[in-house]
Amino acid sequence: MAIDLRSDTVTKPSPGMRDAISHAPVGDDVYGDDPTVNSLEERVAQMFGKEAGVFTPTGSLANQLAIRILVAPGEELIAETNSHIVRAELGAAAVFSGITTRTWPALNGLLRAEDALAIARPDSGPYLVSTTAIAVENTHNFGGGTVQPLSEIAALREGADALGLALHLDGARIWNAHVASGVSFVDYGKHFDTISVCLSKGLGAPVGSIMLSTKDRISKARIWRKRYGAGMRQVGLLAAAGHYALDNNIERLAEDHRRAKELAFAIAAINSTLIDPSGVTTNIVGLDLANISLTAAELAQRCREAGLWISALGPKYARLVTHMDFDDAALSQAIEILKITLVTQ
Ligand SMILES: *Cc1c(COP(=O)(O)O)cnc(C)c1O
Repeated sequence: MAIDLRSDTVTKPSPGMRDAISHAPVGDDVYGDDPTVNSLEERVAQMFGKEAGVFTPTGSLANQLAIRILVAPGEELIAETNSHIVRAELGAAAVFSGITTRTWPALNGLLRAEDALAIARPDSGPYLVSTTAIAVENTHNFGGGTVQPLSEIAALREGADALGLALHLDGARIWNAHVASGVSFVDYGKHFDTISVCLSKGLGAPVGSIMLSTKDRISKARIWRKRYGAGMRQVGLLAAAGHYALDNNIERLAEDHRRAKELAFAIAAINSTLIDPSGVTTNIVGLDLANISLTAAELAQRCREAGLWISALGPKYARLVTHMDFDDAALSQAIEILKITLVTQ
């Protein structure tokens, strides 16, 4: 069977999770009657110290609802150049919310508050676009699973307050950040006005994200969620998978992080220009192919022929993501495939 490291979204629900799904009490969530989704929204809101949450089918929608609520049409959201919101949501913020984005570049996506604050332009008057919100991604996906320093987040909050700007956290992998850094969810959460979290990445649920904020903002987000066509009915089936994931799959992310680190060391041993293992602190291994002749697409193709699926995310950038369906036996196998593929090129 192929080893699939394209993403941590490829996991399949475990028997225990399927069991939880099959026993979930449900109701019509558009009427607010689904007890399992209601308790999940409350549970996650509490975990992050927020008043309320709204369940969404995707992390992209959770981000887009937050942006919709924070930034008015014609205003501006600023974000890191390679952030998911800017690069991987297909222009949704422009299409749905009529807003513009401007970006600051950061090495490996690592947040430095001063970089963001330097391009922020609130209250720009009648000629220039006014910035109203800043988005932070933690961990940073295309940065290579980078964990954002709490000190920089706190400094950004302080700077944003001085400028009257809102802060959004794209926390699709905030679980990984928490496990890697030991920073509590509340300590991350308190710095942000809105937060999106994904249950379908490392936590292994088949579907589901949640957007968190104040009661007032979440009520508004519910209206937009329905308007966008994502008012769901007996969605407690999916929320039950989310509860199961929170009960069972957070602490085990440390195993994914260990395997990613081992993978990075093994690849660096083959060719040290491909990756610096010290930069791998969560479950994402990003390979820089600048110094070898293979393109990322060629490497991905060769690996695939040998039974290892990886992502080509740029001409010379490949990504491997560890997850709960990737064990130590698969790790040894993946390393063998990479040795053959990279050494014979
Ligand atoms: C996966 C991901 C999302 C949401 O993705 P969906 O596929 O829409 O669920 C948002 N932000 C980041 C950083 C992600 O990696």
